[in-house]
Amino acid sequence: MFELRKLPFDPKANAVVSEETCSYHHGKHHQTYVNNLNNLIQGTEFEGASLFDILTKSSGGVFNNAAQVYNHDFYWDCIAKKSQMSDELKARLEKDIPNFKEEFLKAATTLFGSGWAWLVFDPSSKKLEIVQTSNAKTPVSDGKVPLLVVDVWEHAYYIDNFNARPKYLETFYENINWEFVSQAYEWAQKEGLGSVEFYTKELHK
Ligand code: MN
Repeated sequence: MFELRKLPFDPKANAVVSEETCSYHHGKHHQTYVNNLNNLIQGTEFEGASLFDILTKSSGGVFNNAAQVYNHDFYWDCIAKKSQMSDELKARLEKDIPNFKEEFLKAATTLFGSGWAWLVFDPSSKKLEIVQTSNAKTPVSDGKVPLLVVDVWEHAYYIDNFNARPKYLETFYENINWEFVSQAYEWAQKEGLGSVEFYTKELHK
């Protein structure tokens, strides 16, 4: 049985999301993905499997719910607190994606419909990339290691910003937990996708 991870911050004091957004987005949406996943895997080959194994081996409804559990797990860490980027990540970003803020916000703004905008590390090219995924899709499926994600489903911002996705994105960008992103980058270089497996095991023992 998977359980909903706890929020890694106090919902009463987060700069990106209000307590009300947390109560729906974490307490209802994220919880529902966990519940659906638990129900869907019953009696299948995935019953008792790790979240990472389900993420990388399943399809259809099982995949959609497992991926949404992981995507949200990761999103909360990205906005847990405002913090600084490591010098190493900064140098790498300047090299691979010099206009990072502009490019990342463009990817998040122009994503049509529901989905996610990511900064990922590609273990084969050793480069950083910005990726958009629709609905539940996660870059892990393409062998890429997530470093940063923003949820651009309407449920992520509607309560606090109504239809103003760009306003939500500006607030998000100003409050990124770069310490978490920098750590993810460090692990991604050493362990590749293994770092994603480790991350999910820490949250879902
Ligand atoms: Mn969401």
